[in-house]
Amino acid sequence: MKKSTITPLREKLSEVYDLRAALALLEWDEEVYMPPKGATARGQQRATVSALVHRLMTSPEMGRLLDSAEADAGLSENDKILVCETRYDFEKARKLPESFVQRFAEAQSQAYQSWTKAREESSFARFHPQLQTLVHLAREKAEHVGYSGSPYNALLEEFERGMTTEQLTPLFAELSQRQTALIKRVGASSNLEEESWLHQIWDENAQWALSLRVLGDMGYDFEAGRQDKAVHPFTTNFGIHDVRVTTRISATQLFSCLSSAMHEGGHALYEQGFREEDARSPLAEAPSLGLHESQSRLWENMIGRSAAFWAYGLPLLRQFFPGQLDGIPMGHVYRSINRVRPSLIRVEADECTYNLHIILRFEIEAALLDGSLNVTDIPHLWNAKMKQYLGLVPPNHSLGCLQDIHWSHGAFGYFPAYALGNLYAAQLFEQIRRDLPSLWKDVQEGNFIPLLGWLRTNIHRVGRRMTAPQLIESVTGRPPEAAPYLRYLEEKFV
Ligand code: ZN
Repeated sequence: MKKSTITPLREKLSEVYDLRAALALLEWDEEVYMPPKGATARGQQRATVSALVHRLMTSPEMGRLLDSAEADAGLSENDKILVCETRYDFEKARKLPESFVQRFAEAQSQAYQSWTKAREESSFARFHPQLQTLVHLAREKAEHVGYSGSPYNALLEEFERGMTTEQLTPLFAELSQRQTALIKRVGASSNLEEESWLHQIWDENAQWALSLRVLGDMGYDFEAGRQDKAVHPFTTNFGIHDVRVTTRISATQLFSCLSSAMHEGGHALYEQGFREEDARSPLAEAPSLGLHESQSRLWENMIGRSAAFWAYGLPLLRQFFPGQLDGIPMGHVYRSINRVRPSLIRVEADECTYNLHIILRFEIEAALLDGSLNVTDIPHLWNAKMKQYLGLVPPNHSLGCLQDIHWSHGAFGYFPAYALGNLYAAQLFEQIRRDLPSLWKDVQEGNFIPLLGWLRTNIHRVGRRMTAPQLIESVTGRPPEAAPYLRYLEEKFV
């Protein structure tokens, strides 16, 4: 019998994935349970395991296993895809010299410390030298990785494979023009009095219990996951049968815990939905950050902020917070969770204004990378664009260009994924509403199973077999576009 070329490759990949899972567990524990004095040792442990992952992934043995699998004419279609994706990861991991990775890591840790202080003091000058270094390193990285068109494409590829600056520029231009016009129309209609009922203390245990109830109804499998608290909520997995979510709770913010749980729940349903046979392989992954984000935003916003959802949700609120919603009509609850208000902070932005925060960052990043913008000029350009898009000027840099952690990590090219998540979600959601005519009726009854079934079949089980743009086109018949999101906003808010 002929010797299999795929089995030894799968075994080697399983080792890589087990080490990655161990790394994810170290990181999860760091955010959820680790006492503060554990930080130094944890940093060392993470560095050690990361180095092992990299060494194994780029080893000559991995190269040999790939070569022989590629030369094998008898592979199944599925195995061919696995080999192709592994080749992509292998080449990508080998492109960055170890000396560069080392310098980048050092610059990151210095930049993070200087950003923390700069944000406290609202002093851009304090962050400037480290940011300058990271921009230089990002350009160097683009040269190592290679690109066609804009050097920014090399960085985008890391988070949003298959997407380019040349595609994003017209997409974002349409969004910024239409969304800016939209918020002007919607802005005047918000009624603060309708939100006065929200100013109460909301029992944290009840918020926690409500979030578990909704997660369970969404179809999240608690036998294959759990929820914990974290300052910055996130989702992680150590395998398709252990997908963890985290949430935050504030006694004065009724919707914060629930929205965050639904958002992370959307991410987690995706990861619980990968195919069993893809476990411990690169196919049990999302093709991009933007597509992952489409799943969280679909549940958090398109479902969780819909009128149908609140037909199910309001009785639950009354049950978990007895007496606190007496006499509050459905319309007030619905409009409170959907208020539109331009604000300075991205993470607090509503559905109408959110993308504008991203577009501003994308424009700044792309200009930094192609050399048309100097780091010194970031604060000025930031404020000018805030004024242009949202009609607001930050009173200080902490509430402006120093608010996000991403640049201190050197994570240029990350932000567009958030806006793409919104676009993908809306485009998929139009298809879902065509395919599931009884969707809103099901949601009103708290029956999310048909929706989850659709996502499982069309998105989750695909894993990494297609890039995000390919998957969007294969499911909806059209390449990623801005129109469905704009239709969604106009239908909902105008
Ligand atoms: Zn997310």
